Amino acid sequence: MNPAADLLLHLRSRGYGFALDGERLRIEAPENDDLTALELELLVAHKADVIALLQAEPPARTPGWEHAAYDPFGPTKPSVQCPVCGAQDWFRAGDGWTCSTCHPPLERLAREWGERPCP
Ligand SMILES: [Zn+2]
Repeated sequence: MNPAADLLLHLRSRGYGFALDGERLRIEAPENDDLTALELELLVAHKADVIALLQAEPPARTPGWEHAAYDPFGPTKPSVQCPVCGAQDWFRAGDGWTCSTCHPPLERLAREWGERPCP
């Protein structure tokens, strides 16, 4: 174990969440909890190592979807092809990732079809 891994494990066990936003480290604190001065100091000192650890972790899977080939509700765009049509053009529809070939986004359909008056 290294200090950054220890720190990550320790804070996660206290309910802290960590995420990367590009190169930025985002920390989600549990309610009514503050980092101690020591924890903050360690986090600042080992920030680069913590980011490297997070980058090396596989992306978190949505609970209940660990079995699936891709996570339809994951934080990042699926890196697999659509199991139905084979395309790899995902977009966010609501909370999930949707294949834009099987389920074209409404804005695109509206653009392609143009505006038509109701009969
Ligand atoms: Zn598809």
